[in-house]
Amino acid sequence: MQPLTQTYDVALLDLDGVVYVGAHAVPHAPDALQLARTAGMRLAFVTNNASRPPERVAAHLTEIGVEARPDEVVTSAQAAARLLAEQLPSGSKVLVVGGEGLEVALREQGLIPVSSADDGPVAVVQGFSPQVGWPMLAEGTYAVASGLPWVATNTDPVVPTARGRAPGNGTLVNAIRMATGREPVVAGKPEPPMHREAMLRSRAERPLVVGDRLDTDIEGANASGADSLLVLTGVTDPIDLVLAPPRLRPTYVGLDLRALRLPAEALSVRAGESKVGDWHAVVDGGTLRLTRVTADEVRPRGDGVGGDGVSGDGAGGRGGVEGDGAGDGGLDALRAACGAVWAAADAAESGNGTAAEPASVQAALEAARITRAPARPY
Ligand SMILES: [Mg+2]
Repeated sequence: MQPLTQTYDVALLDLDGVVYVGAHAVPHAPDALQLARTAGMRLAFVTNNASRPPERVAAHLTEIGVEARPDEVVTSAQAAARLLAEQLPSGSKVLVVGGEGLEVALREQGLIPVSSADDGPVAVVQGFSPQVGWPMLAEGTYAVASGLPWVATNTDPVVPTARGRAPGNGTLVNAIRMATGREPVVAGKPEPPMHREAMLRSRAERPLVVGDRLDTDIEGANASGADSLLVLTGVTDPIDLVLAPPRLRPTYVGLDLRALRLPAEALSVRAGESKVGDWHAVVDGGTLRLTRVTADEVRPRGDGVGGDGVSGDGAGGRGGVEGDGAGDGGLDALRAACGAVWAAADAAESGNGTAAEPASVQAALEAARITRAPARPY
């Protein structure tokens, strides 16, 4: 029953929705990460956002109470720069459609950032920066249209800002894609170069990918064969997890980063494991039934995953949630639901039985009060 901090040597941590939400640390993140370090786990802060160099990301983390060194930060700009450096001679000029994060990453790899298609670039790299405007996109389009190799740091559709969702690098890549009819090579999550970069820089032997998004963090972990922990402090709602196809399913689910100090047994999610703690889930004729099998099972759930009352040992530990009678912040019920719904979906996929109807999953989760992620980045 050793905690995840002992089972894995490095946590490859996504940032937005995991460590911080906008300008603030996610609740419990600073303490949980300090505890993980104390337990001997190394940390790598892995972000698809290419706009800022590692020094500035580390400074921001430290400012919000999460101690971080620049060499612990891994960005999609670094992954993109390495991809280019492997193809190009040292000293090659690369057109940057992006900002400072990309320029620093290129220089680190011995490449020279340039800003015009007329400066003699031999490749194009594109990553998010608030400074990207039409003139920069036009330079990128001229260069990509001429046939140069084109690497995008990521294709995230949105970037979280203090005022909400704003257009992410994916939308800016689409501008050049539409104008040229070409496709970039993508470095960031869920594509393999990002994971490889994080592995190289952290020297991980047994990494645990920790993220809040199924289609970047968890899909990327699965694509590279790494175990993963989904935390519910970001964009993923419980129902998204329960309805996830195999490529998007994590190894573990936890409420927040305090899950790192819990053992695998308290966090694992597996198709077929539909009895978890007091909870039992069954998919019967396409309907999910989620029941609590204790002597006092009729007591209504006061507070689930979606509540803000997860005090005490709410990261999935038994018996720590005050006054809700569940003792696990809704996590066991959610894990049981995943176990049953995933097994039914997999069976249906191979022609045996019926997958759970999403509406019945929604209804069962609502009845168990596990309906939304407790905190969102936007
Ligand atoms: Mg995230």
